[in-house]
Amino acid sequence: MTSEEKVKVKKVKEPKPPKEKKVKEPKVKPVKTPKEKKVKEPKPVKEKKVKEPKVKPVKAPKEKKVKEPKVKPVKTPKEKKTKEPKVKEPKVKAEKKVKLSSGSKLAVELSAVVGKDNVSESEMDRMLYSHDLAPLPKEAGLAFKNVPDVIVRPSTLEELSQIVKIAVKEGAAITPRGASTWGLGGSMPTAAGILLDISAKMDKIVEIDEVNLTAKVQAGCTWKKLIDECEKKGLIVPSYPSSFPAATVGGWASTGGIGIGGYKYGPAKQNILSLEVVTADGSIVKAGYDSIADNMSGYSLAQLFTGAEGTLGVIGTITLRVHPLGKIRPLAYDFKTLREMGAPINDIVRHPSLKPLHIAWSDYMHFENQRLAGVHAPDVKNLFLVTLQGDDAFMDLEEKTVDEIVAKHGGVKVDSHIAEHEWEERCYEFRSRNVGTGSIPAEVVVTNENWSAFVDECYEGFKKMKMDKGGVIGMISDRSTAMFMPYYFMDGESLLGMTGFAFNFYMGDRAAEYGGRSLGLGVFFASNLDTLHCKETVAYMRALKAAMDPNDIMNPGHLVCGSTRFGIKMGKELMGFASTMLQGIKGLLPEDSSFKGNAKRFHFDEMEEEKEESREDGTYQ
Ligand SMILES: Cc1cc2nc3c(=O)[nH]c(=O)nc-3n(C[C@H](O)[C@H](O)[C@H](O)COP(=O)(O)OP(=O)(O)OC[C@H]3O[C@@H](n4cnc5c(N)ncnc54)[C@H](O)[C@@H]3O)c2cc1C
Repeated sequence: MTSEEKVKVKKVKEPKPPKEKKVKEPKVKPVKTPKEKKVKEPKPVKEKKVKEPKVKPVKAPKEKKVKEPKVKPVKTPKEKKTKEPKVKEPKVKAEKKVKLSSGSKLAVELSAVVGKDNVSESEMDRMLYSHDLAPLPKEAGLAFKNVPDVIVRPSTLEELSQIVKIAVKEGAAITPRGASTWGLGGSMPTAAGILLDISAKMDKIVEIDEVNLTAKVQAGCTWKKLIDECEKKGLIVPSYPSSFPAATVGGWASTGGIGIGGYKYGPAKQNILSLEVVTADGSIVKAGYDSIADNMSGYSLAQLFTGAEGTLGVIGTITLRVHPLGKIRPLAYDFKTLREMGAPINDIVRHPSLKPLHIAWSDYMHFENQRLAGVHAPDVKNLFLVTLQGDDAFMDLEEKTVDEIVAKHGGVKVDSHIAEHEWEERCYEFRSRNVGTGSIPAEVVVTNENWSAFVDECYEGFKKMKMDKGGVIGMISDRSTAMFMPYYFMDGESLLGMTGFAFNFYMGDRAAEYGGRSLGLGVFFASNLDTLHCKETVAYMRALKAAMDPNDIMNPGHLVCGSTRFGIKMGKELMGFASTMLQGIKGLLPEDSSFKGNAKRFHFDEMEEEKEESREDGTYQ
């Protein structure tokens, strides 16, 4: 244990019962039962002959900086007076009290805690920390105070605690930030204040316990760091996002992440044993136990803070389960159409013994676009990737069973080097954006039962919203849940590109018809809270937030929904109106084709060939 972890756990104050508040009942839409639509899968694009991929050993990909997309302006929809449920929102003191100035009182106080070098008020830093990975229209600055007043880089839980106490005293909002790879405005401030850069210095592995199979890390530790360290000890982490080279364990815990390995070992919520959290009054709370499960009676605070998007407290450390690694064996199968994969997927999830580490798919458009962009792609149409993990003897049995299931449904097993290549590429889904266009996924979950029908919906969505189609990729989260990531290309410089967000709203609406939802809330989808749960549940959640964070300093405007800097509520009526408007406008505009245009203009395939030639003759630099 490092010295910074030896912080005394303070006694948690008895929470006061939340004040009863008058809540107007928001209308709750009845969930429609999904109708199986007869939508033809688009004809597969003619396969282009491509070179066979080189056989590479399966290894962890190199750490890669996630490119920040350019900030582009989008017209914000006209704000309309909407009737919102009367839930008293705690006041954000930040907007009133914090005054910007170089060497402000806030910065001076923070410097006394973390040292001058770990506090920044520079214009450049404040601009850089004003958004996350999502392309953010400049106009968002009109709606929110998204430029933080000051950026702080704490090293320890104790420093975190003191920072929060200063924030309470000064009435400053706090926005925790990991690697900012989320994309729903999660680490985007809405009320200026203090931006907590957790990944800068709180990035250590505290301990890997090889006996009890647990790992304790500081919240800003990247997955890549932990995966590599675990691998050296013959261990594997339970599940991680495909953004793992950059994403932090704290960001994953705060978003309740699902990801690679989750089919076998479960998502964040099932793997976190304990958290050390700095609550809204600066107390340090230990939630859960380090080596045993929190299965008995008692409030499970670790579960409460997991997936809270930093709205209830700042996570300082995380203790999670790890597992014996054994070996990894990826298997790949080719299908004529993506839709056909639905049958084997449903057979696998209902099999009593099969438990692959990871089940994923990529469709023909995904590979076709990679070829157009000069990115190496396997010679397949629609790829089904089933990755096994464990001992050889067990995996032999699993492989035989998966082979039989897939063959029964018309899938063809492909060479193991393709499977290994795709496993190796699991964190580079969006390589084709190297042609110079942005690519944005609509991340939604639906029930596995509706898997094939939802494939049709994705293709229909591309057509209806006239998208510059990227592809339909995704993974199976658990026995009942599939995560679809249909993605599209967009030209960040044009008005047409900006209207692309209509597709995310469209797919979210469709997912709801198939027993699913959009993933995450953040700022951009916070209004979804009202549509995801009944009014009593939503009111209870808002009351909980108000009780735990009475000054609303913890990531205000996120998850439980907030208001613009002018006090206009970003409720479901306003956001629903914006979504309908945007979908209507997008449907009327001409089809977006920036990707194909760019690929042609820059001749990426030729450049790639030139690169390969120069690699072969040793002149590549
Ligand atoms: C290419 C790509 C692939 C992705 N694949 C997946 C995937 O497979 N599964 C998945 O779930 N997501 C995925 N994501 C989304 C994202 O990468 C993950 O959610 C990731 O876990 C976020 O980590 P981060 O460190 O970037 O968090 P950030 O984006 O910095 O923060 C996310 C949220 O957590 C809060 N937060 C961060 N740190 C703390 C803390 N210490 N305490 C309290 N709150 C905190 C922030 O305020 C914000 O609300 C992907 C994104 C990209 C770009």
